[in-house]
Amino acid sequence: MQFSDFGLDSKIMSTVEHLGFNEPTEIQQQAIPAAMTGHDLIASSKTGSGKTLAFIIPALQRLLKNRALSKRDPRVVILTPTRELAKQVFTQLRMFTTGSQFKAVLILGGENFNDQVKTLEKDPHFIVATPGRLADHLTQGHFYLSGLELLILDEADRMLDLGFAEQLAQINKAADHRKRQTLMFSATLDHAQVNDFALALLKKPKRIAIGSAHTEHKDITKRFYLCDNLTHKEKLLEHFIKNEDHQQMIIFTATRADTDRLSTMLTEQGLSTVALSGELNQGQRNQIMDGFSKGQQKILITTDLASRGLDLINVSHVINFDMPKHTEEFVHRIGRTGRAGSKGESISFVGPKDWLSFKNVEGFLQQKLNFTAVKGLKAKFKGLKPKKVIIENIVKDNTKSATVNKKQKTKKIVKNSFLAQDAGDLPVLKRKQAVAPQDIENTDINEID
Ligand code: AMP
Repeated sequence: MQFSDFGLDSKIMSTVEHLGFNEPTEIQQQAIPAAMTGHDLIASSKTGSGKTLAFIIPALQRLLKNRALSKRDPRVVILTPTRELAKQVFTQLRMFTTGSQFKAVLILGGENFNDQVKTLEKDPHFIVATPGRLADHLTQGHFYLSGLELLILDEADRMLDLGFAEQLAQINKAADHRKRQTLMFSATLDHAQVNDFALALLKKPKRIAIGSAHTEHKDITKRFYLCDNLTHKEKLLEHFIKNEDHQQMIIFTATRADTDRLSTMLTEQGLSTVALSGELNQGQRNQIMDGFSKGQQKILITTDLASRGLDLINVSHVINFDMPKHTEEFVHRIGRTGRAGSKGESISFVGPKDWLSFKNVEGFLQQKLNFTAVKGLKAKFKGLKPKKVIIENIVKDNTKSATVNKKQKTKKIVKNSFLAQDAGDLPVLKRKQAVAPQDIENTDINEID
């Protein structure tokens, strides 16, 4: 299939050709024609799969082919969970709107409010925004959505996880009219709140599920290394920076304090490093990301802040110095490499504190993940055993011979409960004794180097 098969306006086609894209990606093949029919859409697609153009192209086509419902109101609003992703979407949109009759603006939290008021007064056709700030402008009457033709929710699951449900509902209500079309994208469609939201916002949506977040990204290799402690992780990190042939690298840590500490450590070693640390304002963050995307540094250290929306073609390696707290974040983090068909490597460190997250990722990806070890840096830690939770079960004996109900005690071991609350979740069963986690003997270790 070719882009020319969609029957797109020649202005869109010339930008697509200028970008050098011949074949639409899988999500584009399905979402573009479906959205062009005017249907609402709920779609899941892997990170880096080309989903941004899967909604930008039909949006532009609609604007070019239909008359505006209102002269002043924005015609398309695109909402994203993070500022970084919004900027990424905006960059792709600008490739199509620059030199056209359409004005596109970016409205982000953390940036000057009054400047944004002036921007909105210019009656843009497209608004790309984070939901909190856009809802603030809406509340203050800086723009109206009665003429909105397309509402696009990018990474709806993440927006809901971040607590934007109220703002999304407010924006939806302000644009609640018959002619509005809604396109909703989510990393996964198995998300209860996304499904509830879809029911409330979308009209008879067409569902498109392409390689959900659970499926393997064939261009990204995943390696896991057991670690004893922080010092061990730092030694492994130094080993990989020194010995892996890499272009650019992103290192993800659990906290901003860890980001700062690692950044100091690597900078002291003379490595070209930059960190998205906690102290930065939005302008500084933008500057850092721009510099990194231009290749000014080789290593970026960050928390999950930068796990989405960064389209960095030269990132060959992602290192999870700590495993992510939210399981789906793993997919987004490693999706920063292996973009648009290039190969990528992901390396994850799994210490005792990461064990539960590791098991959750294993469950999420629905595959057994094996460990690799570096010669001379092999961990003593071999994983945690599921907690043995001895439970008391009160069973009623209803046999005919029994004159009274007899209480029977049974003992069970609850598997996979690394956390006490797992056992507590079980109904009618009483937790009696929890045995401290112990090392597992039989974890798979493959020696390399
Ligand atoms: P996305 O998933 O939207 O973040 O896109 C990931 C990358 O794929 C971006 O660099 C896009 O420019 C690129 N891309 C989008 N569509 C295509 C296509 N049809 N062919 C090749 N690359 C594409």
